[in-house]
Amino acid sequence: MKAIRRFSVRPVLPEPLRPLSDLAHNLRWSWHPETRELFRRADPDGWRACGGDPVRTLGTVSARRLEELAHDRDFLERLSAAAADLREYLTEPRWYQRAEDELPAAVAYFSPEFGITAALPQYSGGLGILAGDHLKAASDLGVPLIGVGLLYRHGYFRQSLSRDGWQQEHYPVLDPNELPLEVLREPGGAPVRVDLRLPGARTLRAHVWQARVGRVPLLLLDSDVEDNAPRERDVTDRLYGGGSEHRLLQEMLLGIGGVRAVRAYCRVTGHPEPEVFHTNEGHAGFLGLERIREMSGEGVPFDTALEAVRAGTVFTTHTPVPAGIDRFDRELVARHLGDDGELPGVDVEQVLRLGTETYPGGDPGLFNMAVMGLRLARLANGVSTLHGAVSREMFAGLWPGFDAAEVPITSITNGVHAPTWTADEMRALPAGAGGAELWETRRTLREHLVHEVRRRLHASWRQRGASDAELGWIDGVLDPDVLTIGFARRVPSYKRLTLMLRDRERLTELLLHPTRPVQLVVAGKAHPADDGGKRLIQELVRFADDPRVRHRIVFLPDYGMAMAQKLYTGCDVWLNNPLRPLEACGTSGMKAALNGCLNLSVRDGWWEEWYEPDFGWAIPTADGGGPGAAHESAQDRQRRDDIEAAALYELLREHVAPCFYDRGPGGDGLPERWIEMVRQTRQRLGPKVLADRMVREYTERLYSPAARAHRALDAAAAGRLAAWKARVRAGWPRVAIDHVESVCESVELGGSLSLRVRVALGGLEPDDVEVQAVAGRVDESDSIAGDEAVRVPLKPSGGPEEDGSRLYEGPLTLDRTGPFGYTVRVLPSHPLLADPAEMGLVTLPPDDLGAREAAGVLLR
Ligand SMILES: *Cc1c(COP(=O)(O)O)cnc(C)c1O
Repeated sequence: MKAIRRFSVRPVLPEPLRPLSDLAHNLRWSWHPETRELFRRADPDGWRACGGDPVRTLGTVSARRLEELAHDRDFLERLSAAAADLREYLTEPRWYQRAEDELPAAVAYFSPEFGITAALPQYSGGLGILAGDHLKAASDLGVPLIGVGLLYRHGYFRQSLSRDGWQQEHYPVLDPNELPLEVLREPGGAPVRVDLRLPGARTLRAHVWQARVGRVPLLLLDSDVEDNAPRERDVTDRLYGGGSEHRLLQEMLLGIGGVRAVRAYCRVTGHPEPEVFHTNEGHAGFLGLERIREMSGEGVPFDTALEAVRAGTVFTTHTPVPAGIDRFDRELVARHLGDDGELPGVDVEQVLRLGTETYPGGDPGLFNMAVMGLRLARLANGVSTLHGAVSREMFAGLWPGFDAAEVPITSITNGVHAPTWTADEMRALPAGAGGAELWETRRTLREHLVHEVRRRLHASWRQRGASDAELGWIDGVLDPDVLTIGFARRVPSYKRLTLMLRDRERLTELLLHPTRPVQLVVAGKAHPADDGGKRLIQELVRFADDPRVRHRIVFLPDYGMAMAQKLYTGCDVWLNNPLRPLEACGTSGMKAALNGCLNLSVRDGWWEEWYEPDFGWAIPTADGGGPGAAHESAQDRQRRDDIEAAALYELLREHVAPCFYDRGPGGDGLPERWIEMVRQTRQRLGPKVLADRMVREYTERLYSPAARAHRALDAAAAGRLAAWKARVRAGWPRVAIDHVESVCESVELGGSLSLRVRVALGGLEPDDVEVQAVAGRVDESDSIAGDEAVRVPLKPSGGPEEDGSRLYEGPLTLDRTGPFGYTVRVLPSHPLLADPAEMGLVTLPPDDLGAREAAGVLLR
């Protein structure tokens, strides 16, 4: 019989066991092995049955067992030690509390997904896992972050396979009462409620659930509440599901509702208000509009509120792939945010302008969340050095007149949370452990993986309709002594799940090599609407089903954090072959590296930055170096896949496998070079890939300056800045460079030029602008290389000329030999601008000024 409603009965813990409840409800257990061990001991079978989830374990443990534990001295001692440890962790001063800088009182961090533990499945892939690692590292460092997201009643989806290898999606219902969550309540006990007004006099209501991630609260908005109409109840049904309007409602709830949830949280707990709002990708961008609305309610004009809000906003872009960026129909946005919708009192035309794609090739009918993100944030970043450069190119059109190198988007390379992603066995290994010990630990982890793979494969085949009697072969799948390669990630086309299948014969030879075989573990989910991705999975599954190779290659369904933790730790080599430069960063290879797994990857994302021959292998790419992967023809793509796949096979056969199987002259020693690479990876690469390092960088380079700007730009100062910008913008068309003169004694290294520039300022004051000389190496077409150029401000000299123009002067040092050129330009200048390019205004010399004269002197 099917129950019509389910609920879970919470256990009543005997008095001495009460601290178990606090330990279960703080997700720090997910990166604290001692706490996990405590729950495992409490009920080993229950712990295993529910996949290592303390809240569920407590929900199923019998009353008799609880009575027993309440009198178990050893258990009680461990319990009290774990409870004391958590208390200390939550209250002691940490890095942030010891920092000298004036740091923000609090930072709100918004993300559409959070991957903290398999027990709270609210993520689809890298973006969510990164957000989870960000919160955990913030907690470890004492950064006062408040996480904000949505609670999806079905999470993403669970993946299984049909008999013929087609992806099947399941959406199990999550009961928040069985999750490590508590409802956020008003002091009187009623749940905090967040309301949004929708067109057609509808209301979207949400409750707020709170998860505790160590010291960091995570607020998750949930629309599945009884006083919502059915349509509105479904707003938070699934992550990345539904059509455009559904997505818009989710993002309104996340951004607008999220700010209201933060306000409520601070009100009821006394937590300091955030001075900085950080949006992880564009999905939460409406948070800026809500804060503008808050100020509008106090009578602050839009432009002023925009300046004040921007000051404390940080935007991180995560992808150069267009499908990763949300774009809505303008009309849909107008309807939801206009007078009939959620932001009454805020001029919807002004809002629409924020999301308009004002660059060549932009679509005037669309509202782009990333573009709005960039305009609403004073500071923005990409997630690896290469991705920073690619993003500056991609969005350069928003700053016309500036070279891509000057686009104000910086980069902070992602990191991963070591306590979450390092195997206990690796962590226990002393830094100075010998080669034999290291190799033995690697083998142990590989063996664990082999067992895990067989278990999962068996379950998958049962699910695909096979009987136990047909599955005896699974006991011989994978070998704990064979070189093991992992490949697991989401399945968008740029990640090229099936590149390894390009030449099946060559792959088969590698798998079945008589003395140096490799074995492959593959996993990944395709987005439910992506049939192309599902076809790739099917191709791979069909290949792996072949009895000739099925003991050496497996596809495991339902890739998620629990599987990932086994995979990264048990593989010898982590494979990544994206179409460069479309992998913004990639983090799975970092997690693998923490466990001494070597990387074999296209030089994209983080691997472009930190690749060294001691850490693994670089698959050569045939991309020609430009950011053009998205515009390649189908034929180019095919050619490129052929070249890169051939390079991959070659590397595996000639370098990776020989290195792994090189057991010294007698053939019975250790693979010395391999072990050395494992050691180098752990010791030298390990410290770079940490989320700790990443969160410190965010704090020092983005949060701290954003908090300073937020404090400097109170409503009065923001009003002055807005007025100044309006005046400069109005006067700018009349700013012109009338004349450039240079005097040069000698064009030798170390010499200098004296520059004198006459500038018409229109109605602007000399202080409103900076006149700059830009100099550097030039190419055949006299373009100055943007990333190496020097920029020298020139000084105003004398009073106004008769026609009102002004003179600016200064020396320019000739500090390099070879072709050299300069130009001059005028930029807006104000102490509260984050960047000279911020307003997208610049005046260059007119073309007819005499190209040669203006471009300067050539030195040979
Ligand atoms: C780390 C991780 C990812 C992201 O991996 P990429 O290398 O960025 O593709 C995706 N899913 C899970 C479960 C992860 O742990």
